[in-house]
Order: sequence, then structure tokens, then C-alpha cells
Amino acid sequence: MAQTDYSIMEILQMDACTGCGLCADVCPAVLAAGDGRLSGVYRLSELRRIMRSRTGFLAIFFGSQTLTEEHLKLFSDTVFRCTLCGRCQQACPSGILLKNLWLSLRQDMVHCHAYPKKVDMIAENLAESHNVFDEDNKERAEWVEDMPAAPDHGYIKDQADVVYFTGCVSAYFPMAQTIPMALVEILDAAGVNFTLLGEDEWCCGFPMLGAGLRDRMEDLIDHNIKAVQARGAQKVIFSCPSCYQMWQEHYPREFEIYHVTQFVNELMVSGKLLLDDLSLTVTYHDPCDLGRGSGEYKAPRQVIRSIPGVKLVELAHNRENCLCCGGGGNLEMIDAELSADIARAKIDDILQTGAHAVVTACQQCVRTMTTYARRNKVSIEVMDITQLVQKAIAGKDRSDSG
Ligand code: SF4
Ligand code: SF4
Repeated sequence: MAQTDYSIMEILQMDACTGCGLCADVCPAVLAAGDGRLSGVYRLSELRRIMRSRTGFLAIFFGSQTLTEEHLKLFSDTVFRCTLCGRCQQACPSGILLKNLWLSLRQDMVHCHAYPKKVDMIAENLAESHNVFDEDNKERAEWVEDMPAAPDHGYIKDQADVVYFTGCVSAYFPMAQTIPMALVEILDAAGVNFTLLGEDEWCCGFPMLGAGLRDRMEDLIDHNIKAVQARGAQKVIFSCPSCYQMWQEHYPREFEIYHVTQFVNELMVSGKLLLDDLSLTVTYHDPCDLGRGSGEYKAPRQVIRSIPGVKLVELAHNRENCLCCGGGGNLEMIDAELSADIARAKIDDILQTGAHAVVTACQQCVRTMTTYARRNKVSIEVMDITQLVQKAIAGKDRSDSG
């Protein structure tokens, strides 16, 4: 294990833990699996013990310990069975930035060869295909061909004011492709001059970060920056909160960047979108990377409340306390069963509201919640906020809006 995988702040914060256990009380993985070893408090105490007993001066006091492969593997299992939802960080009274620490810890695990095999798959897919699913990157915008009234340019232009960065999940998963379809329709209705990057869009790098491959994101970042520059765009918009957060935190500040909830809210406020009445009661699920991760709770609620006839009822756990859907942190790839168990608690929270539909603002949340609801025959409609707005676009024939 290498101390260089951690910032000075992270090393200092490791000692700030009081062992209060609040991070365990709120952790969706601990609650779903009934396993305290998935908690922040366990992970942190183990990490501290290992760090202090490795080599050098501290080892004289704490005793040098040979880390067996088996020991590291067991520890690594707990490190990667986490959705990176950030609830632990939100709850920690000592102010430890636990989510950042978990990312550094994953990188540390990769450097000492104690990581799930799926990590290699993510690295290979991104290096060879530039998307996390090893699909042909030329097909990134193929979903446009399934739209009934797509323009001849297929939403790919040489120059535009705005770039819509779709993200890997929305580009390739049929269940999520309805989101970019809805968003381009909204942008058209508001008269926005935008373009997709098509095959020039590469993965934003977020799956690398979550897989402990932070030191291999540079090529992806450089490529995407150049692709946006080549279109002469000043603004980049994202329907994926993880892409948005990635650009906020790891890309150079060269463009104005917006999550769609922020961009669409501005379109509504400036009167560029005319909406019809929808008689619907919905609840809203805050995606972890948009809410706790990026601090955006207001814009999605303003969008929902601005649609005539839509009533918003809040979940018991909302905003900072929102429960994770189970789909983050690459958990679905590492432990699909745990991911589904976490989704169960989320769906139970949703059903308590009595809402007709749950609206969210993330393609991965839509996939996770829809999959759980379908498999378990739970009667709840799951939709992205772009789909809700699409339904309300004035003069739209409701029969084709899904
Ligand atoms: S990030 Fe979420 S899943 Fe991971 S330890 Fe913290 S609360 Fe648990
Ligand atoms: S909430 Fe913070 S201080 Fe309390 S046990 Fe967890 S990491 Fe330690």
C-alpha cells in the first residue's frame, strides 16, 4: 500500500475518526447486507492499522505487519462494495471527507493488486473502445436513428453554441436512451443551437475514478476538451450527474457547464419553453452525484414545480438524506445482488409517498429503480426529469412521449 495514494489532508483526517459509528448507521450497503465490515468506521480503522504498521518509524511503535494477499483481498472486498453515495460523509460529525478517501483507497488497492477483476475490464474497455461497455464508439449517437422526427444532421454539427455530452449509459442502454431523446426534443422546442459529439465523445473518466484508476484519466479528459473546443461551444450540458461532477472537479475550467436540471430551469425561467398541464403527482429522487456530490437540490425541484398540474411530494429521506438507488460506485458490476438489495430500500421509501411516479435526474438511477420495479412487479413509474418535461411540451402529442 502506498501513502502517496492519499493527500496530506486525507492522511490527517484518518485520525479524526471518533468511532461514533454514525457513518455505519446511514450506509445503504451496511443496511442492505447486514454487514458492518462495509461501513466507513470499519474501513477507516482497518486502513489506519494497516498504514501504521507498514514500514518506517511508526512501525517501530505499532509493530510491522506482513500484509498477506488474503488479508488484502478481504479488505478490498469491503472497499469496492460501496456505492460511493456519500451518505457517510454527510453524516460524519468529524467532517472527514470520506467519499474522497474511498476513491484514494480504491486506487491504493489497485496499486497493491488487490481489486476485483472487473477493474481490469473497465480499464481495457476505456483504453480500447473509449466507452465503459466496450461498444463501438462510432455508434454513440445511434439512438438518434430511432427517433421518429430526427433532423437530417442527426444532431451532430460542426459548430454550435452548446454541446450536449450524453455519457456512456444514455448512449448505449436502450432503457436510458429515452433520456437523450427527450432532452434533444426539449432543446429543439426551446430553440437552442446545440450539437452532440457523436463518436468524438469519449467516456468522461468517472468509471476510472470509481475503479481506482485515477491516474489513467488524462487521455479521456484531454480528448473531450479538444472535441468541445473544435465545435466552438461555450457551454456543455450533461444529463448524467456523474459526468457533470467529473467535469466540475477534474476538467479544466474552460466552459460553462450545466446539469440539465439547471439548464432546463433557465430555459423555463426565461420563457423559452411553453408547457401544457399534466395532472400528475410525483416524488423526486436526488441522484447522489447531483445532490450530495454537487449540492444541486433546488433546480430539479424548480423544474418539477414549474410544470402546470404536477404536484411534488417529498420522500421521507430527501435532499442531503436521500437514500442511494444502489447503482453508483460501479457496484452493479461488482456485486449486482447488493445493488438490488439497496434498490429495495429506495423503492420502499418511494412507495410510502403514494406518488404516481418517481422522477429523478440520472440515467443510472432510472435503470436501477426501473429494473428493480420490473423484476419485483412493483407498480411505480420511474422517469427522468427530461422525460417529465418532454411530456409537458406544449402541443405535444402525449401518445408518443412514453
Ligand atoms: S459512500 Fe455510501 S455506500 Fe459507501 S460507505 Fe459511505 S454510505 Fe456506505
Ligand atoms: S461518522 Fe466519522 S467520526 Fe463517526 S465513526 Fe464514521 S468516520 Fe468516524
